[in-house]
Amino acid sequence: MKRIALIAISIVLVTLRLSAAEQIQIDSAEIQELKGKAGKWVQVNQRTTLQYIMKEYGCTREDIYALNEIAGKRSLTGNYVFVPFSAELLESLASRGVARTVVETSDDEFLWPVEKVNNISSILGLRGGKFHTGMDIPAERGTPVRASMEGRVVFSGYLSGFGNSLEIEHRNNFITRYCHNAVNFVKKGDFVRKGQYIGCVGSTGNSTGNHLHYEIRCVDVPLDPLDFLPGKSGLLMPHSLKNWK
Ligand SMILES: [Zn+2]
Repeated sequence: MKRIALIAISIVLVTLRLSAAEQIQIDSAEIQELKGKAGKWVQVNQRTTLQYIMKEYGCTREDIYALNEIAGKRSLTGNYVFVPFSAELLESLASRGVARTVVETSDDEFLWPVEKVNNISSILGLRGGKFHTGMDIPAERGTPVRASMEGRVVFSGYLSGFGNSLEIEHRNNFITRYCHNAVNFVKKGDFVRKGQYIGCVGSTGNSTGNHLHYEIRCVDVPLDPLDFLPGKSGLLMPHSLKNWK
């Protein structure tokens, strides 16, 4: 009962806070942000080499190593790195009208952790005799995962079953969790903005295909993310939902 009361108080607090509208920029496929720098998460590979990236985005090797806190001469092949854009590139993008999306946080407290979701494969509730503590969103491997709300990363690492996982602590005792990631972009202690790219979708841990396992918790009680996320009409639901709600 105590827990339920705490959740109710938190929801009241959230509702009160919503009276102040605030416009924020969220990361887009074209422009993302890390540590106050505009740029993009790019995977270094045989085709997209470090040399290619430096030329394409107008940055230096030192810029990339410093911003990503990579020591020495370690090879980056296979890794995702955040590539800061040059002032010229940002200007040219702006002149073509390429900018990050602006959202009003007062409308929707939580942002969908994956852009353009049209179906979910599993919801909060009993599944095969076990309690499924979140929602599963199928997406292609490498699809960006974004922070639902601003907050501090309290866990970034591998959890048995959940694979590469992230946990972010928000105001009012809310926590969001993002699991089975191919890679996590942020580490414990990092402050993340709402809409910031924090990792990408994969199938690590106990998973049968590429998807994001997403949770919203309050005072460590798993809640139904669908009660908090905006714009659910038209969403394809798993069959189990019919029996559950
Ligand atoms: Zn799941």
